Amino acid sequence: VEFLNVHKSFGPVEVLKGIDFRVEPSQVVCLIGPSGSGKSTLLRCVNHLEVTTSGAILVNDRMIGYDVHGERLVEASDAEIDRRRSTIGMVFQNFNLFGHMTALENVMFGPTKLLRIPKAQAETEARELLARVGLADRANNYPSQLSGGQQQRVAIARALAMKPDLMLFDEPTSALDPELVGEVLDVMKQLAASGMTMIVVTHEMGFAREVADVVVFMDDGVIVEQGLPDDVLLNPQHDRTRSFLSKVL
Ligand code: ATP
Ligand code: MG
Repeated sequence: VEFLNVHKSFGPVEVLKGIDFRVEPSQVVCLIGPSGSGKSTLLRCVNHLEVTTSGAILVNDRMIGYDVHGERLVEASDAEIDRRRSTIGMVFQNFNLFGHMTALENVMFGPTKLLRIPKAQAETEARELLARVGLADRANNYPSQLSGGQQQRVAIARALAMKPDLMLFDEPTSALDPELVGEVLDVMKQLAASGMTMIVVTHEMGFAREVADVVVFMDDGVIVEQGLPDDVLLNPQHDRTRSFLSKVL
């Protein structure tokens, strides 16, 4: 993933003010920063839930967006956006499972409906994924019958069912009771170890230190500082980073 001078405004308010950044394959990047700094907006631009105002984002070297002078480079057709989204998995704070479907049906939905994989094959793969996130015995439960941590693990399995090359996580554990955070982070650690490319917005500094290859600190729409987790988290170079860390650590 490559961000090239990405700007995003909502009306008169500029929320992203020129983001330049590159994520290499298999890297895990943790994005931290205060509320309102633009972290979610940046993630949402990657899979085109938001459209950048200028600049460009490349995923697998495919560019959609605008050049640095604000001229549109590539007209993003619906087909192109769908193709791009199908290679990117996203996991949100609030799970967003389909409430009227079981865990298994949730995981099978994308592969059968969007990728048109035969049902039997999709079911086998979905059961494998549920086992991978520790929920083999919960396949027939509805979301309302699962804890928050279990629901979030189903949401991760559902995203993985689309065989993405990139996973985006937006505060995946911040809606969870503290005792359920660990089980979700463990699944994410496993995923990172398997070589998945991941961008994770998180307030879990322990996770960032242990798992991230790069920590990026954002404030007010810009990247203030980025680097190895221990450098950014233990020895920040900027006052804004220090002040943020003193509040969250
Ligand atoms: P948090 O840690 O609270 O999730 P964040 O870093 O994810 O914050 P964003 O959600 O990206 O921040 O929001 C950045 C700014 O953009 C905020 O000031 C927010 O109010 C504004 N914003 C986000 N989405 C929209 C929208 N659809 N319309 C108008 N303003 C928006
Ligand atoms: Mg956010």
